[in-house]
Amino acid sequence: MSFPVRLPDRPPFAIRARILTPLAAGGFADYPDGVIAVGADGQIDAVGDAAAWVPRLAAVSLEPIDLRPFVVLPGMVDLHAHLPQLPNAGLGAGLDLLTWLDRYIFPLERQFDDAEDAARLAPAAFRTFAAAGTTTLLAYGAVYKASMDGAFRAAEEHGIRAILGKVMMDRGTYDKTIDPATILDRSLRESEELIAAWHGADGGRLGYAVTPRFAISCTAEMLRESAALAARTGAWWQTHVSEDPGEIREVARLFPDAMDYVDVYDRAGGLGARTILAHAIHLSDRELGRLVETDTRVAHCPSSNLFLASGIMPLARYREAGLRVGLGSDVAGGPDPSLFVVMQVGAYAQAALRTVVGETRASLAPLDWLRAGTLDGATALGIDDRIGSLEAGKEADLIAVDPRLTAARRDLPYDSERVAPDEVMSRLIFRAHPDMVRGAWVRGRRLEGPPSD
Ligand SMILES: [Zn+2]
Repeated sequence: MSFPVRLPDRPPFAIRARILTPLAAGGFADYPDGVIAVGADGQIDAVGDAAAWVPRLAAVSLEPIDLRPFVVLPGMVDLHAHLPQLPNAGLGAGLDLLTWLDRYIFPLERQFDDAEDAARLAPAAFRTFAAAGTTTLLAYGAVYKASMDGAFRAAEEHGIRAILGKVMMDRGTYDKTIDPATILDRSLRESEELIAAWHGADGGRLGYAVTPRFAISCTAEMLRESAALAARTGAWWQTHVSEDPGEIREVARLFPDAMDYVDVYDRAGGLGARTILAHAIHLSDRELGRLVETDTRVAHCPSSNLFLASGIMPLARYREAGLRVGLGSDVAGGPDPSLFVVMQVGAYAQAALRTVVGETRASLAPLDWLRAGTLDGATALGIDDRIGSLEAGKEADLIAVDPRLTAARRDLPYDSERVAPDEVMSRLIFRAHPDMVRGAWVRGRRLEGPPSD
């Protein structure tokens, strides 16, 4: 299904389409025939009904580009992915985490060791995420500084909003070139150099997350020093927690003094509002309470959790406790970079909890999943004052989606105005199509990736 209209490349511009967004104050806005206007500074100037806004924009000689029946949504915020792992996406289903890492992941990350590899792979990875509708990406690199530097350069050029971090491992690392005696100091020094070069670059579009891989591959000292580095520099701190039963047992063996897995990071000073923990599937009430108490944020990665048979997050229980949760693709633990697919698997997983273990708390509705993939992700990163919803004054991070590709009857004309907003979103989730995202913009600048014809 082609679409001949030329999409705007740079601001200022206005788009006429169906506009659907969560709102910072709660609830949603849905304009079946709407307009969004983006100013020259890349900020959203106006969102509203076409009937009201087309004449006002005409007064300032701005004619909206008519993209109906496309649906314009906030860009997706992916809170967890691994850049070098993308080539093995979809491989290794059902292996346990530690076996999968050894067989499919560490050999791949070992190759991501210089700037040339990053220059080859990172731009393709960013195009892939943009094509899936992701405009903000929090991702891990490999352990090598040069490739991380190259990945940042590629993100700077591509235009995606990216928070990246060089993986830190001072135990069981796949990097055979590093002297065990100096690995801790070197990893800290390299991370600090990358922070100095990239954290806050391009007016805050690029950021750094200090990235100890997880408790199994880090000593207590590495965890502690990395958390201190993040606190000192204002960078984020990200790692994995409580993903897989085998992993949890191994962490208990390696950290016999800790009360539980969360306590390992707590003792290191790693919990708090600038911390994003991936997975957090098997938390005890104590661990859950401690994450809520410290305002630590969690990346929920349901497609990865089922792909690797790690478990199902009791999402309703966590949300009721007040945990801040956004969504992550966890490519390549998750086989697909699309957060729409992540929402779909997440919804099926929550339905499974209802039928299998009798969960009775309310499940997320389609519009709740939209919020989880956009505004909740931005809130988890603490950048919801700038992105995550389509509201005047925010930066124009948005996507245009062709809902015709998700229609049940493609032989009939698609009339999106007749479909209720939760039904539009329901089809985007449960009939997600790999080509349905037709345009993605960050600060009004169009990203390479989505099919352009
Ligand atoms: Zn991961």
